[in-house]
Order: sequence, then structure tokens, then C-alpha cells
Amino acid sequence: MQPNGVSRKTVLAEIKRIRALDNGYDNGNILCSMCTKPHPLAKKAFQTFFESNLGDPGLFPGSVQLEKEVIRELATLLHREKAVGFITSGGTEANLMALMAARNIAKINQPEVILPESAHFSFTKICNLLNLKPNYAGLDSTFRVDLTEVEKHINKKTVAIVGTAGTAELGIIDPIEKLSEVALRHGIYLHVDAAFGGLVIPFLNGKKHRFDFNSEGVKSLTVDPHKMGMAAIPAGGILFRDASTLDFIKTETPYLTDRIQYTFVGTRTGAAAASTWAVFKALGIEGYRKIVGNCMKTTKLLTDGLKKAGLKLVVEPSLNLVAFRSGDTKNLAKKLWGRGWFVTYAPRYDCIRIVVMPHVKRKHVSAFLKDLCEIEKF
Ligand code: PLP
Repeated sequence: MQPNGVSRKTVLAEIKRIRALDNGYDNGNILCSMCTKPHPLAKKAFQTFFESNLGDPGLFPGSVQLEKEVIRELATLLHREKAVGFITSGGTEANLMALMAARNIAKINQPEVILPESAHFSFTKICNLLNLKPNYAGLDSTFRVDLTEVEKHINKKTVAIVGTAGTAELGIIDPIEKLSEVALRHGIYLHVDAAFGGLVIPFLNGKKHRFDFNSEGVKSLTVDPHKMGMAAIPAGGILFRDASTLDFIKTETPYLTDRIQYTFVGTRTGAAAASTWAVFKALGIEGYRKIVGNCMKTTKLLTDGLKKAGLKLVVEPSLNLVAFRSGDTKNLAKKLWGRGWFVTYAPRYDCIRIVVMPHVKRKHVSAFLKDLCEIEKF
């Protein structure tokens, strides 16, 4: 830090210059992100609650109210009005809180968790932190977790099973209802990572997927407003079926305005809850249905174009996420990147993945397909 500050004008000019180095969602060339341009009201609400700290809730009752209301909305959407929960820093913290609860409830030595091979990498960090041994269950031919594999891994040390509703690489929804039956039969905690799918699946037309608290074995659920919820980062979400579960993740706070804290993160912004609240209010169920419907239409435009160009889909998409291959997929990803398309290559499935978020419009997909066809021709 320099000895004396500089003028406000200088700071702002520098900030603006450096911000221009970042990419913007408006260009429509960010095709690999599970986040998107937040709803305009998300920004307004975030700014309004900019100073708020939900880590010291006695000082910020307004922020507490908004967090409670947002959690109630999510609980109702996910079919368990009595569910309790928090806005977290993201899906990683939400998944951490869930597995911490499961581990502490079981209270056994050398605890283990069963994860689908497709589980998000956040669980690798979480297993490390919580000293949980991960047992990976293989996938079936549709890339869903194989139930016989799950059963095979169950033993006396199993404290939790995880299923995903919308995997990060392929957008796959695991058979949560069946996992729930397995979990109930064995008396094991089931956590569903719906960080991405939790605010897509409820708004899809057509096929219904049971992935939430409708399945009785589901004890907790991650759902992130900062992904398809169009809220500002950092807005993850964790919901627990039963309020009694909170006893297993509580920490006493010796000097704050509240006696107990449940989230892993201490100081945490109320702006995230406010931004989520504002988007929920502004859009309502029908607003989200429209946004998800548009994303799915754009997804179809993309998959039709890819097939026409002779590229192979890894799987027919259930959500707004497309994974495809060519003869040399890794190289194709590089070439697309060279033309300004931000796509990522997923080595686990040898595919390029495209997340058709709300900022990806039909015109962007058409331009992308044009470039792709040109690259493939030469
Ligand atoms: N779970 C899934 C399925 C995800 O897709 C992601 C992120 O993309 C996460 C968890 C982690 O969420 P975050 O990056 O918000 O911590």
C-alpha cells in the first residue's frame, strides 16, 4: 500500500480500466459458465444491502427477514415447506454443510461417503476437510449413477449417499427417487446436489423429474440462486428436511449478536439474500418458466445444429447443458477458443460442454455454429 491515498477519480478510472479486462456476459461468447448476468433487480438489491452482514444477524434484522423469506420460497418450490436452511457462499459451502451434518449425525470412526463418479469436484475438497473417505459409484450407460454400484459400496461406515440433479459436465439428473429408496432402506442420509438443476428442473415443460424433498429419503438439498436463479454471486443455498439437523452443524459464538452460527462462513453478506429475494419477487414461477423455456429452446437450436454439422452429442440433454464430441475434441475446443468462444473441454467424458445460460441467445448460437462448421470443414 502506498503512503498516501490517490484521488477518487484516479481510483475509479483505474478500476474501470481493469474491469474492462474481464469478459462480459452480454457478448454471448461465454458458453462454459454456470453463472450468468444477474437480473437487473439483483444488482439494485445487492447495492441496497451492500453493508449488511448476516454473520452478525442481531444488527441486520431486515437481511435476516429476507434470508428467511428466500429459504421459505425455495422450501415450497422443493416440496418441503418445513425445510430450513441458509443462503451460502455457493454450492461448495452448501455441500460442505450437508456432509458435515451427515457425518456428525452418524458419529462413527473413519466415516465414508458414497459419491457418483460424476459428482462435483467440491466433494473432493469436502472429503478432505471432513476426513471422509469417498467411495465412488460408477455410472450406467446413460451417465446416471448405477444403483447396484451404490448398494455395493454401502457398509457400516457409510454416513451419506450423494446424488446430483444436474451434473456440471453433462447436466445429468441422477435417479433421486431410487436413491431415496436405497437410503431409506439402509437408514443412510441422502444429500442431493441440485446446485445447478434446482432452479431449472421445477420450471421445465414436459418430462417431470423427481429430485427434491418429494422423495422422503432426501435429507438435504443444495440449490444455488447465483446459477440459474439469476441472483448475484455469492448466493448458494442449503436446505435441510428437518430443523433438528441444524443441531449437528451448530457452533457457539462467544461475542456476536447471536449465540449460534450454522453456516461455515462467518461474516457473510446479506446482499446475496436480498438479491435473491428481489429476483424471486420480480420473476415469480412464471418468469422462471419463461427463462428456462427460452434456454431450452436455444439448447434445441444448438443440438440440432451440432447434429447437422456431424458432431456427436454425448447424451441428449435433459437440461440447458450440451456436451458433444468431434474426431479431435480437445483440439476443436482450442480452435473455438481461438475464435473467441469460451467453451471448456471435459476430459472425463472427452467432450466440449456448453451451458446455455440466459445470456446465450439464439443469435449467439447461430454465430457459434457458423464458426464451428467453418473449423470442422478445414
Ligand atoms: N455442485 C454442482 C453440481 C455445480 O455445478 C457446482 C458449480 O458449478 C457446485 C456444486 C459448486 O458450486 P460453487 O462453485 O457455487 O461453490
